[in-house]
Amino acid sequence: MSKETLSPNEVKEMLIAISDKIIESEELLSEADRRLGDGDHGLGMKRGFTAAKTQLETLEPTTVGQVFSTTGITLMSTMGGASGAVMGILYQNGGTALGDADSLDAAGLSTFMTAALEGVTNLGGAKPGDKTMVDALAGAQEAAAASVGLSLPEAMKAVSDGATAGMEATIAMIATMGRAKTLGEKSIGHPDPGAVSISIMFQVATAYVG
Ligand code: ADP
Ligand code: MG
Repeated sequence: MSKETLSPNEVKEMLIAISDKIIESEELLSEADRRLGDGDHGLGMKRGFTAAKTQLETLEPTTVGQVFSTTGITLMSTMGGASGAVMGILYQNGGTALGDADSLDAAGLSTFMTAALEGVTNLGGAKPGDKTMVDALAGAQEAAAASVGLSLPEAMKAVSDGATAGMEATIAMIATMGRAKTLGEKSIGHPDPGAVSISIMFQVATAYVG
């Protein structure tokens, strides 16, 4: 049955499902990073989300923001690398922006995405077009802002489509940030691994609320 709003415990369940899918996607994510970076993206994501899942399982949340922030802080302290800091700040900033809300709806999703994108761009300095996860996040944020009046399942589907379109757009881009930058034009033809991670997360979220 589709969900119009998510309680703190449902957000926890959704993030555990996201963690499971990311852990399962280790090889796919590392393969993407072998083409553009040093091949460790899947390993770092698996380490971070295994730790996040452990934290979430014992959490008894009273707000939705608390669930996202706990995930972010855990990712930050366990993933390492360039992506650990930005992936962590994404969840932490998004969660903090939700304040003491005890449910998540389409408007909350937009609030989350705006703060998450802002946190990542402020910390990492990447802009849309640099071939990073910011391209997927910017697609997601734009869709979320346009979906405030929709039901949560409709909004999450639009956000997921925006993230996937942003990820697919990175295939044709030349990397100008991070390790892939040294490849120059050779970076064309492959999606950014961090953007692939973002796209996977929203696909799981869409299946959860749908
Ligand atoms: P590392 O580059 O340290 O090996 P990972 O392989 O885990 O880290 O992650 C690489 C991903 O991190 C890239 O695909 C990109 O999406 C993301 N990334 C790297 N630098 C930045 C940045 N400054 N801003 C946003 N995302 C970034
Ligand atoms: Mg790497």
